[in-house]
Amino acid sequence: MRHRIAVVGSGPAGLTFARVLHRHGHTVAVLERDPAPDARPPGGTLDLHEELGQLALDKAGLSAEFLALSRPEGQAMRILDADGTVLRDWRPRPDDRANPEIDRGQLRDLLLGPLDVQWGRGVTQVVPGARDGVLVHFADGRQETFDLVVGADGAWSRVRSAVSSAAPHYTGVTYVETSLDDVDARHPDLARLVGDGSVAAYGVNRALVAQRNSGGHVKVYAQFRAPVDWHANLDLADVEAVRSSLLALFDGWAAPVLDLLRHGNAFVHRPLYVLPVSHTWTHVPGVTLLGDAAHLMPPLGAGANLAMLEGAELAESIATGATGATGATGATGATGPVELDEAIRAFEEQMWARAGRWAQITTAGLERLVSPDPAEALALFDQVQPS
Ligand SMILES: Cc1cc2nc3c(=O)[nH]c(=O)nc-3n(C[C@H](O)[C@H](O)[C@H](O)COP(=O)(O)OP(=O)(O)OC[C@H]3O[C@@H](n4cnc5c(N)ncnc54)[C@H](O)[C@@H]3O)c2cc1C
Repeated sequence: MRHRIAVVGSGPAGLTFARVLHRHGHTVAVLERDPAPDARPPGGTLDLHEELGQLALDKAGLSAEFLALSRPEGQAMRILDADGTVLRDWRPRPDDRANPEIDRGQLRDLLLGPLDVQWGRGVTQVVPGARDGVLVHFADGRQETFDLVVGADGAWSRVRSAVSSAAPHYTGVTYVETSLDDVDARHPDLARLVGDGSVAAYGVNRALVAQRNSGGHVKVYAQFRAPVDWHANLDLADVEAVRSSLLALFDGWAAPVLDLLRHGNAFVHRPLYVLPVSHTWTHVPGVTLLGDAAHLMPPLGAGANLAMLEGAELAESIATGATGATGATGATGATGPVELDEAIRAFEEQMWARAGRWAQITTAGLERLVSPDPAEALALFDQVQPS
């Protein structure tokens, strides 16, 4: 029996889910609020871990394409103190493929491939338990019914309330993002500072992190502890006012580091919100969550990776049946409603256990990276970087 399946959201979770189902010969309705793939800037670079995001791409049959696009040299990492002194300078070995970087836009296009996303279809509510399935309400007033609705709609998920009353809360840490274009030609000193990968400078309760994307683009993140309304007297749309405010916040830091803010173009405010660590819910037939919708956590290199692997695993278990039989490409997916529900229950248990571990790691990591004691950040990197 073929199921009517919808996934809400075309981020890393939703697209990987849809792409792996597609590989197994299943159709899925991908419902995306954005009117077009390029309606918003796609965001910065992502490092995909061998055992998470790369495994998901393997399940989607996209490993070779990823290898061709990704930047293993982007694993380079340089740590400075607020004076600009280089404390660590890690370079990957030439054959190191543990965590290569890829631009989000490139990853999105890779996953989109043959998928037929329904753009401009914002979901407002999902109601399980309707007579013939799960009812989806759209922003334009329409409704549709599915056997399974997968909420991959990110931090502020509209699907989540169908299974859980949990809501994101502010971590006490805010990021303000800016970027530099054509950095090698226009800002050669900053290009050298950032190198092939990332540079991060740590001070008391604040940090400045810059990451090279492809095409000479660099994303910069000012990270600091502040009340959620820290910008109450600031017009966030006023670029020069935000720049001055950030330069005041990082007053006394080395000039070459502050140049990352001085030369940045527009600023994007990103207060960090998280769901409770180990967020779970009582299983609801016909609805589940993936990625940030299920386990929003601090952005320390795990969120998109988990989202992708979950998408791939859920798709495989649906395509191959509840028994968990190994999934060959082209499997029939001849599961009935009971088997479908069993597959989703088993998937949720696995997702909760793994995401819970990562939520603990990333929550503790954020405490150390944006900390009253900058030595904590260095100690954390010394633990996780290969010597
Ligand atoms: C600054 C920063 C840096 C990060 N760096 C990394 C990193 O290096 N590595 C890593 O693994 N993770 C990183 N993350 C985390 C990562 O971005 C997220 O965990 C990941 O994007 C989650 O994917 P997702 O598909 O669950 O959700 P999202 O990427 O948020 O996608 C959700 C999609 O759903 C759509 N949508 C939302 N609401 C609706 C609706 N009502 N109806 C229809 N569609 C809707 C949205 O438009 C969007 O397309 C970072 C996060 C931040 C903020």
